Amino acid sequence: MAKSGRQKSMTPAHELESRLVDSAQRYELIFQATNDVIYEFDIVSGVITWNDAFYEKFGYPKKDNASPFGWWLGNIHPDDAQRLKKEYSEWFKSGQSIWEAEYRYRKHDGHYVYIRDRGLLQRGSSGEPVRVIGSLLDITADKQLDRAKDEFISLVSHQLRTPLTIIRLYSEMLTGNIFGPLGGEQKKQVKKITAASTKLISLIGDILDLSKLEMGVLSSHPEPTDVNRLIMSYIDEFHPRALSKGIDIRLETDESIKEVNLDVMIFSRIIHNLLANAIRYSQPSGGKITVSFHKNKDGFLLSVKDKGIGIPKSAQRYVFSRFYRVGNTVNISEHGTGLGLYLVKTMAETAGCKIWFKSIAGRGTVFYLQIPATGMRAT
Ligand code: ADP
Repeated sequence: MAKSGRQKSMTPAHELESRLVDSAQRYELIFQATNDVIYEFDIVSGVITWNDAFYEKFGYPKKDNASPFGWWLGNIHPDDAQRLKKEYSEWFKSGQSIWEAEYRYRKHDGHYVYIRDRGLLQRGSSGEPVRVIGSLLDITADKQLDRAKDEFISLVSHQLRTPLTIIRLYSEMLTGNIFGPLGGEQKKQVKKITAASTKLISLIGDILDLSKLEMGVLSSHPEPTDVNRLIMSYIDEFHPRALSKGIDIRLETDESIKEVNLDVMIFSRIIHNLLANAIRYSQPSGGKITVSFHKNKDGFLLSVKDKGIGIPKSAQRYVFSRFYRVGNTVNISEHGTGLGLYLVKTMAETAGCKIWFKSIAGRGTVFYLQIPATGMRAT
């Protein structure tokens, strides 16, 4: 009772003052209690005030929690400092309130760490920059992981794939009699080298794509593409393979479709896989494959239809799973990893597309790719 009586006797000015003191104390507590580095840059005086976390994380001896802007700038890696100064002044002029940058910052022991700096700019009554409140996050571990991912991808793509491609090339040259004629038996054996290296190259390609997907480094960059020409180039590529199985590939397209926004790498991967499967899983006695590309109410629809062995109902829900191969297909083709459709589906979804199929065992399969009316999505 006595307490509430005292509160009642407070004048509005006292009450305001007490609330201000309270909020300043709370701000100070948050500033110091957090584990992240937080700073306040007073643009007018050119002084940066740090919380204690700054001294703990960067090892500098703590004096009075403040340092001149120039001191902070002097600790930034020389290769990043110029860029940063430019970005900073552009930010002040831009009218944007939030800014984010990554740069290397020197710790007291001389080592550089990668920093993500995120600042919020406060302006004065006539719009002039007054103060920046921001946080510094040490992202060195993330950067090291990114580098490890890049190194892995480069190891697989160059150091494994390049020598294999050379093996395949030379074995093809040998069977093509470029280095002089080979005897029948020699040719037969060298062809085995070509087949095995082709299989390995495609497996490495799948593993590379799988790692890119799992590491989250696969992105989609659509650009206007002459889609009919692109599809035709794949049909031409697969023509000899189809012919050798007595298969006829037909293309049904809408000539009025000129360009569609496509990520060429993703689209090519999809059509390549669907066509390879359509040929691979066609009946040995041949048949017909129809590739069509048309407009529909949702955008553009690609379909690849074969009259092959089909996919039994019981297996249909698994075909987009990793490493899954339907039991009956393993006898038909030793090629194939069961990775293709998983990769194709994940890539299609990355690019904002949908993929599905209809199939009747023994009668054939048709795969569909629905592309939005605006084309593939950029990610
Ligand atoms: P694979 O490298 O084995 O072809 P995919 O992921 O591309 O791997 O396909 C998974 C499985 O789906 C294949 O092993 C096959 O059993 C089945 N499949 C895919 N496409 C077809 C098709 N057009 N006709 C029949 N079965 C198919």
